[in-house]
Amino acid sequence: MNVETKCLHAGYEPQNGEPRQLPIYQSTTWKYASSNDMGKLFDLEAAGYFYTRLQNPTNDMVAAKLAALEGGVAAMLTSSGQAANFFALFNICETGSHIVASSAIYGGTYNLLGVTMKKMGIDVTFVDQDASEEELAKAFRPNTRAMFGETITNPTVSVLDIEKFARLAHSHGVPLIVDNTFATPVNCRPIEFGADIVTHSTTKYMDGHAVSVGGAIIDSGNFDWMAHADKFPGLTTPDDSYHGLIYAEKFGKLGYITKATSQLMRDLGSIQSPQNAFYLNTGLESLHVRMQRHCENAMKIAQFLAANDKVAWVNYPGLPGDKYHDLCEKYLPNGSCGVIAFAVKGGRDKAIAFMDSLKLATIATHVADARTCLLHPASHTHRQLSDEQLREAGVAPDLIRLSVGLENADDLIADLTQALALV
Ligand SMILES: *Cc1c(COP(=O)(O)O)cnc(C)c1O
Repeated sequence: MNVETKCLHAGYEPQNGEPRQLPIYQSTTWKYASSNDMGKLFDLEAAGYFYTRLQNPTNDMVAAKLAALEGGVAAMLTSSGQAANFFALFNICETGSHIVASSAIYGGTYNLLGVTMKKMGIDVTFVDQDASEEELAKAFRPNTRAMFGETITNPTVSVLDIEKFARLAHSHGVPLIVDNTFATPVNCRPIEFGADIVTHSTTKYMDGHAVSVGGAIIDSGNFDWMAHADKFPGLTTPDDSYHGLIYAEKFGKLGYITKATSQLMRDLGSIQSPQNAFYLNTGLESLHVRMQRHCENAMKIAQFLAANDKVAWVNYPGLPGDKYHDLCEKYLPNGSCGVIAFAVKGGRDKAIAFMDSLKLATIATHVADARTCLLHPASHTHRQLSDEQLREAGVAPDLIRLSVGLENADDLIADLTQALALV
């Protein structure tokens, strides 16, 4: 099946007389005939459901769709994108581990790595993702356990050279984890370019309608944990909390997701609610149609902004001449995303005046929604930072993040035109 068909049909195939639409299993618990039946589940001797903090059938059917879309072997849903990135990393890291991550990643992930995981004794080196392989190789240490980047970065819309990152990660014996939130599997499937694990904030395009917060982790099954057994003891040595089973041995290619489910979800409990998984599935059914329109609209608006004399600069990888256009052609030939980063001439104050004059596009702490929205990080998400600190974080003080929605592009251009005229 092609990706469009998978958006509709993967993960749930109703049998004769079963509901056409994905059923919501709104139940915390499951009933078993005997104590022995239930005991086998707790020993991971049999597969089955017993408590929704670990697994729920509605979630699993949506996760199976995501695994099919990304070309992975297994997937799990989490309560948010933050939980997905934390679980993806913490599943293979522990106190004393080190991570190499692009410095251009989403601010929430930057804080997760640089503040919270640091407190857990997990160190991070942030790198310039555009640096040469020789330069990037210097960031690796003997205790490095993962490399991390985003297909298209939030908010600077830089395109990651996934093959370069995969080569670096693999030559140092660690997996590459790619957050594919902005591209979605409709526009890029990082596993095809060597990524081992893919994460998502499903809150964004996958949900698409600003309905529910959620996340997902998809494993390619390609990373050979046993070949680097000394680096990943959590997967390659006995887990005492399950009578000494070894995940990578007992579950093979499913070991990584099985461990994340049966150990991290058990202990940290960041499951997505089945109701939200249902909403996510509804979003996924139209993802391929929406992504195409988001990209068409964003291209028209990027071209309009680039030609407007009130605009200082525009970053949109789809634009010929953009710094990331060549990488975009390689990794995102059918379109990138609906997000554009740009600036109005005159800096912070002009950015605020422009945004306050918009009538259709709304100011919101959100991206990748059906409705056009925008944010000025220097005034909103990053408002505690000075201009200097903003530049250090890779966010220009005048940067406006415009998330182009599904409205008629001419109506959006008319709104942008009148607001720019007032600046
Ligand atoms: C929003 C976002 C996240 C965090 O996701 P939440 O669902 O808000 O927790 C992670 N990565 C990227 C690229 C994002 O845009």
